[in-house]
Amino acid sequence: MKYYSTNHNTPDVSLETAVTQGLAADRGLFMPERINPLPESFFHEIGSMNFQEISFEVAKKFFGEDISDQILKKIVFDTLSFDTPLVNVNDHIYALELFHGPTSAFKDVGARFMARLLSHFLGKEKKMVHVLVATSGDTGSAVANGFLGVPGIHVHVLYPKGKVSEIQEKQFTTLGQNISALEIDGTFDDCQALVKSAFMDEVLKKKITITSANSINVARFLPQAFYYFNAWAKLEDKSRKVVFSVPSGNFGNLTAGLFAKRMGLPVSKFIAANNLNNIVFKYLQTGVYTPRPSISTIANAMDVGDPSNFARILDLYHNNHQAIVNDIVGTTYSDDQIRETLLSVYKTTGYLLDPHGAVGFRALNELLVKGETGIFLETAHPAKFTDTVEQVVGIGNVPMPEKLQAFMKGEKLSTEFPAKYESFRMYLDELE
Ligand SMILES: *Cc1c(COP(=O)(O)O)cnc(C)c1O
Repeated sequence: MKYYSTNHNTPDVSLETAVTQGLAADRGLFMPERINPLPESFFHEIGSMNFQEISFEVAKKFFGEDISDQILKKIVFDTLSFDTPLVNVNDHIYALELFHGPTSAFKDVGARFMARLLSHFLGKEKKMVHVLVATSGDTGSAVANGFLGVPGIHVHVLYPKGKVSEIQEKQFTTLGQNISALEIDGTFDDCQALVKSAFMDEVLKKKITITSANSINVARFLPQAFYYFNAWAKLEDKSRKVVFSVPSGNFGNLTAGLFAKRMGLPVSKFIAANNLNNIVFKYLQTGVYTPRPSISTIANAMDVGDPSNFARILDLYHNNHQAIVNDIVGTTYSDDQIRETLLSVYKTTGYLLDPHGAVGFRALNELLVKGETGIFLETAHPAKFTDTVEQVVGIGNVPMPEKLQAFMKGEKLSTEFPAKYESFRMYLDELE
């Protein structure tokens, strides 16, 4: 399978190049040249398949031409060492719980898959590959933990100082080994800009091999299609229309859902659920896309002012605004509305949302109509945002899973940098 750039200004590349390079040479994002549909028989059997089996069938449609079934199966099965349960919250609304992986956020799926795929492609190569990753919170931990101890790879996590939760920070600053943390005096957008500058730095790229593990990497975002199928498989009543509500930041998750639909998953609509960083919401309403600096909110993993995967959505729909709004509706909520939803759902159902999931739930609660089943992506465990969630539901009401407790015991190791490329460049110059 060939991969083309959303900017259409550079030759198509192989999967291996797309994965190791991350971003296309013309700064576009890679897209697979085809989206292969799954056969009807798959949808008949899906109810009796487990997450790993379903995902392997989906993975073959993306990667089957480039990787042998045997290796691909191992990568998929190793990646998905946990399930994504579908939990009924009220009436026809379900949480697709994506937080049962090692760092308790959905990004574990893509990050673990990418680490294994990259390591497969590196094979016997001697040269060190440097993975540069900008994070607004959860990407850093998922990527760091997904790559921890993988030979031939060094991960450099750039995160905005003071803008991630303590548990998020601990998850990527305490690991040591092949993981380094850079604390940037700026916003997430600054971190993302530093990483992008490094990829445009031809002199640097002659010296060291760098790749990205942000959701711009096809090896991270395509596997996110797996759990949309798993959700549908678990639905008891498959005759109702299904709406997926996706708490969105960089829109990797939602884009993966659109791919799942193109592969034949019967989804009637997607909701792009935003916090106050509502650039895409405004686009859906007006047809005009205007990036803005990000605003800090309590759903901080969605504080993105210029969502990178939006280019993929435009490409998928050939820039046709009408076609996009036929499939995607938008919502946008303030911090107060997020808190209010968290509290009322907790009080009325006992279900504890995290601030991101709360955005997804609220959108369904407002927009779902008769005959529809709503599934929102519960993208992180509430204990990753203990401070915020406890302020809403009361101290002591947010149990912390054991695997998160273990991270809290580690010692933070990170280096501070200003949000200037010259400083980051000096750091990169020291690498081999
Ligand atoms: C990353 C993240 C999001 C946003 O996902 P995108 O794919 O970037 O849209 C939402 N919630 C949580 C908890 C996240 O970590």
